[in-house]
Amino acid sequence: MHRKESLKRGTGIVLFSGGLDSMLAARLLMEQDIDVIGFHCLLPFVAPDADPTKLKPAKIAAGINLSLRFHRCGKEYLDIIRNPAHGYGKQANPCIDCHIYFIAKAAELMRELKADFVATGEVVGQRPMSQMKHTMNHIEKASGLQGYLLRPLSAKLLKPTIPEQANIVNRDMLLALNGRSRKAQLNLAQRYIITEYASPSGGCLFTDTFISGRVFDLIEHHREIDTTDFYLLTIGRHFRISEAAKLIVARNEIENSELEKYMHTADYFFMPGFKAPSIFIKGTLADGEIEIAGSMISRYGKRHSDPGAISVFQKGKFVNTIHPGASMTGDRLESMRIR
Ligand code: SF4
Repeated sequence: MHRKESLKRGTGIVLFSGGLDSMLAARLLMEQDIDVIGFHCLLPFVAPDADPTKLKPAKIAAGINLSLRFHRCGKEYLDIIRNPAHGYGKQANPCIDCHIYFIAKAAELMRELKADFVATGEVVGQRPMSQMKHTMNHIEKASGLQGYLLRPLSAKLLKPTIPEQANIVNRDMLLALNGRSRKAQLNLAQRYIITEYASPSGGCLFTDTFISGRVFDLIEHHREIDTTDFYLLTIGRHFRISEAAKLIVARNEIENSELEKYMHTADYFFMPGFKAPSIFIKGTLADGEIEIAGSMISRYGKRHSDPGAISVFQKGKFVNTIHPGASMTGDRLESMRIR
């Protein structure tokens, strides 16, 4: 016997953030007896070793019986972050290019699974940057999905797509939502008894002022960046000690263990043999800058008259030991903090 799904009208890939709009888009299609597969893109802030099936979007999808596929945004995505063709929003969020990327990746899955279309939870006029009608048309074209990109929540305001014309999707059962009001979506959530969903931008850290400062600092100062660098932007205190080097100091034991987990990727890693935080350095250190790490460890560690040595590692290999030296002053520390 073929898959149960083969008895359905067709198959759609729904871009699924875990937010209410993407849940409603999925539910509207499920109601039409369409085989719906959710597609979730993991931003580079997600821990490299995280199991996506244990993350919140997976739990939210399970709540509406939606099967979910994952895509980890990698180098191609980081190139977009460094140089987004359509620019940034208010912070380091390149929403238009990000959307194009997500939809293009969903299109790859559509072709791989021989599905009929890709759908999103976009609503015409809801977001100033990416959900204006002309921008939505542009996104459809740029993602290579012309005619196959369905927006179930606003479909009746848009040109019929190929799956609607082919009667795989019943256009009459789709909606004509428009604008920023969330009232209609909240009513629909009640109708479908949806109580758990992510915030509208999914809590995207690219829209966070604090993290955005770290993102811009990273891409402006370092040519070689990877997803671990982005994950580490969410951990510890960050200091720029020179144009070539930045330093991360853990704030607690959990962060310390997390930094230690990625010490093999650190250009320099300082591990004190006494009670004090470890330090992760990205970049190259000039003469005298090793002492900066030592004095920062003194600043954040417990003071002892003779605290002991700090082991220095490069890419995970032990190279040396140093002594912590005098504690850094608060003013100097603040002058280096990345905000
Ligand atoms: S809010 Fe974040 S995840 Fe959403 S499109 Fe913008 S950059 Fe991408």
